[in-house]
Amino acid sequence: MTAESTLRADIVEVGRRMYARGYTASNDGNISVRLGHDRLLMTPKGVCKGFMTVEMMCVTDLDGRKLQGDREPSSEMLMHLEVYKERPDVQAVVHAHPPIATGFAVAGIPLTRAVLAEVLTTLGSIPIADYATPSTRELPAAVRKYIKVHDGMLLANHGALTVGSDLYSAYFKMETIEHFANISLVARLLGGERLLTRDEVLRLQDLRGTYGIQAPAPICPDPGVDAGPAVSEGSEDGATCQIVDAPAARGTRLVAASSEARREVGRSNSEGEIRLTYRELSALIEDAIRSLR
Ligand SMILES: [Zn+2]
Repeated sequence: MTAESTLRADIVEVGRRMYARGYTASNDGNISVRLGHDRLLMTPKGVCKGFMTVEMMCVTDLDGRKLQGDREPSSEMLMHLEVYKERPDVQAVVHAHPPIATGFAVAGIPLTRAVLAEVLTTLGSIPIADYATPSTRELPAAVRKYIKVHDGMLLANHGALTVGSDLYSAYFKMETIEHFANISLVARLLGGERLLTRDEVLRLQDLRGTYGIQAPAPICPDPGVDAGPAVSEGSEDGATCQIVDAPAARGTRLVAASSEARREVGRSNSEGEIRLTYRELSALIEDAIRSLR
């Protein structure tokens, strides 16, 4: 188990990085981590995450009773408690308002399109939890719907939430969400993403094991239709699998066919440039991994 002094320093460091990267403004955001099996270490209410000290942190039990600390625990403590209750595997929770991801949350656009391998292998899809008044009991209820099967989500008209097996893994998922939101925004400004096919998504899901990545839930099963986004998201009680928007059509190329691509980039393709479909690239990666064993 990581020593409390190390965890306090890690929270300070993660807060500093979040603030430096513009994921929080003023006193926004909050961070918590499990301290043994029955306590939490949490950022206090009303402080800027960029200027915290190790002494500021609060220790609470899993019901939110303060056990230690001069300050009051985070105003979003109820949301953190809900996550720890629903996900015994989760060791840390990070909440911030990264501006591009929050823009998607404000626009009501989830980040569920199959676009980037590193997102599909780590977070899968990133849904939007319903709007809830911050710091009330409504927010944990909104988060409950998705938290069992997602390690990251947007919070409608509010921000983003990520969880992880340690503090840095939760924080890095916040970075991945904001990075993905940036790329998605640019791609949409440039005419829209070219989506990976459903087969490619499932293949990437299989690769999670190869990379040793724990995923909270599988991609939803193929409903057996020809095209279009798949599947229901589960029962009223909550999502049971992850929704990823990916076309069913086989053989869709991630990059344009060479003649089309030449036209698009306006330059010759004859100077030793190699264009691969995503499937071809995945096969090359798999071969490389096999040869390393
Ligand atoms: Zn917030």
